[in-house]
This record gives sequence, C-alpha cells and structure tokens, in this order.
Amino acid sequence: MRRLVFLVFILGLLVPSLFAQGRRGGAAGGGTPQAQTIYVLKPARVFDGESAQPHEGWVVVVRGQRIEAAGPAASVTIPPGAEAIDLPGMTVLPGLIEAHSHVLLHPYNETSWNDQVEHETLALRIARATVSLKATLDAGFTTIRDLGTEGAGYSDVGLKLAVNQGIIPGPRMLVVTRAIVATGTYGPKGFPAEWNMPQGAEEADGDSLIRVVRDQAGKGADWIKVYGDYRAGPRGETTPTFSQEEMKLIVETAKSIGRSVAVHSSTPEGMRRAILAGAETIEHGDGGTPEIFKLMAEHGVALCPTLAAGHATSQYSGWRPGQDPEPQGIQRKRASFKAALDAGVTIASGSDVGVFTHGDNARELELMVAYGMTPADALKSATSVDAKVLHMETQVGKVTQGLQADLIAVDGDPTKDISVLHKVKLVMKAGAVVKRDRE
Ligand SMILES: [Zn+2]
Repeated sequence: MRRLVFLVFILGLLVPSLFAQGRRGGAAGGGTPQAQTIYVLKPARVFDGESAQPHEGWVVVVRGQRIEAAGPAASVTIPPGAEAIDLPGMTVLPGLIEAHSHVLLHPYNETSWNDQVEHETLALRIARATVSLKATLDAGFTTIRDLGTEGAGYSDVGLKLAVNQGIIPGPRMLVVTRAIVATGTYGPKGFPAEWNMPQGAEEADGDSLIRVVRDQAGKGADWIKVYGDYRAGPRGETTPTFSQEEMKLIVETAKSIGRSVAVHSSTPEGMRRAILAGAETIEHGDGGTPEIFKLMAEHGVALCPTLAAGHATSQYSGWRPGQDPEPQGIQRKRASFKAALDAGVTIASGSDVGVFTHGDNARELELMVAYGMTPADALKSATSVDAKVLHMETQVGKVTQGLQADLIAVDGDPTKDISVLHKVKLVMKAGAVVKRDRE
C-alpha cells in the first residue's frame, strides 16, 4: 500500500511536467517557442470578424496559443504576469485569410507564367516561395489556401510542413498539390506535338479522375482544385473542359475522403457544371450571369472573385488605372462581382496572389470595396467568412474566446478606410508575436 502511495506521488510529480512538455512540443505547430506567455492587447478598437462595427475600448487577452478573453477593458480580468502590448490608435482584428494564393508563382511582370513553369528549377521556386510565405505573414495574412503549385509538384506539402515545424515563418496553409486539368486543355502550349511537355497541373479524364483525386489527397492535398474551363477552344477561346459527369466524379471521389473541391471557372457553363456537381468554391467567375449567381447562392457555393489578379494583369498589358479608360475585362469583372453581390452569393476573399506580389494580398479587399462592398463586409470576407468556407471556423477568423490567437493590429480603422490594411504593425500567430513594428 505504501508503495502504491509512493507511485501515485511520483506520477503526480511526473505527469504535469510531461504535459507541460507536450504543450511546448505542440507549440511547434504554430511556430511558437513561448507557448504559455500571456499578453493583453490594448488597441483603440477591436474588429471581431463578425460585427459590422468595431468595438471601441476593447482589450484582448492571449494565453499560450489561444484567445482567453476579449471585451471592454472594464469587464475583462487581466491575469497576473500578462505582458501588455499598447496599440494606440490601432485596430486589432483576426489574422486575415487568403483563400486563393500561389506561393510558388511570382508576379508575371517579372517572369511570365510560361517561363516560370518551363524554365525555373524546383529549388529556385521553393527558395522564392519561402520568402513569399514570410511576406504574406508579415502582411497580416495568417492563413492561406494555396490553390496549385503550377508545375512545382507537391512542394506545397513540404512548405506547409516547414511552416508547421517552425523551420520557416509563414501562414497556416491549406494546399492542393498539383491541381487537375482535362487532357490537352492547359499549358504550357506551343511545342511540337511529338513532345510531351510537363504541364502546369496534372492531366486526368474520365475514370482516371478517381485515381488522380485520391493520389493528390494521399500526397497531402487538403482540398482538390480543378480547372473547370480554360482556353481550350479552337481559336483559344475559353470553353468548359470537364463534362458534367466528370465533374460529379471528381466531387464524389473527393467528398468521400473528406476533401472539398475548388473549381477554376469563368464561363457560365463551366460554373453551372461545378455548382451542380457540388463544388464548394468557384474561382474567378468573371463571366457569371445573374442566373448563374442565383444558382450559386441556392447551392451555397462561395465565389473567390480574384479581383486583384485581373487588375494586375491588365496593368502588365499597359493599362494605367486612373489615366486610361477601364479595359473590357475590368468592366466585366465589376459587373459580374456586382451581380454576385446582388444575388447574395457568399464572397470568399481570395486574390490569386502570385500573379502579383506576395504581401500585397490586401489589394483584393481594396478592390472589393472599390467594386461595391462595404469595408466591414470585405473584412468579414477575409476573416470569419473565409474561415467558414475553408471549414476552419472553430480555429480562426474571429476575435473570440477559445480560438487560436491569430491577431493583427493595423494603424487606423479599416472599417472606415480599408487601405490601412497596408499598415500592419503587429502580427501574432497562435499566440506568438511574429512581427512587431514599434515605429
Ligand atoms: Zn489561381
């Protein structure tokens, strides 16, 4: 009996220290070495990710990796030993979410997509991606859904691991690996027919779609990304690629192993097939009509409008915003975005960054506002709405007790002036301060 009491005593000493170690070990998931530090953030106001108005005079308490409390300063108990972070004039908001990135691409005005895919070595692309991930995090984007490596294989899976293991700084990542295209529809093009050029995504058709969806998932894809239309017409015009049956096969196969499907599509027919097949997000949607957006809203399919990508490529072709008339593509984008808003489609903030500079992701929110959204709605889109669309709402996207402490502070009030998103002074990921600008 005495021996038993002794054993229990020893266990009592050991177990808490084991747990403490477990917590420290677990902290590597957020890349934070000081997991149990307590902070109290004291900004001018807090935008919680949900409410239309920011809360003046709120404070946020962070313990370890999580938000312990958020509320009016008078009603929140500050734990002893908490380190105060004063953020005068600033707004604290949830870490921003980018629902459509390509960290393995860099701006097309530096190097064209074709040249990146054809001529850049994998090591070069990965090395650059590590820098792009840091720029993304420093810009206040603490979660990204990266929608395709565009010829860089499965390297997104390794980059995600490197971030999770604390080897490189970066946002939380959802990845898709190579993405899927219908045979003969994608690029790079223009080579002799005898040459089988590696493509920017994995080709599959008919029954082979089952194998490729499962293979990409097995190799680490969190989501399945497919190109539902592309410039595959005889004159290079954009046409649907996968048939309705193929699209259904993709979604059924993905869903049965717990993966959601994102479909690149800009034609009404490509979008219609994706919606009816059960895709969860449609990327771009440039040619969406009021009828198609109504169908999207009815089926609960979210739109990632990628406004910033078109805005950037138009400028690469010589357009000078504010000086030249708006190109047709931009006018069409404005109109389809408005039609999506009018139809009540869920707007997921996703920019297609990579086409333009990593770290400039906030351009998407500025354009959402310029094209008709309120700043608060654009902010919700990049926080709580994106979190829900990405099935991460129990982890991130709001300033509320119990969620991961992914928090940023910007200088000013972004619900009044969305451009202050470019003035990120503090970035915290999973309770660790990863950027603090004290100027
Ligand atoms: Zn894209």
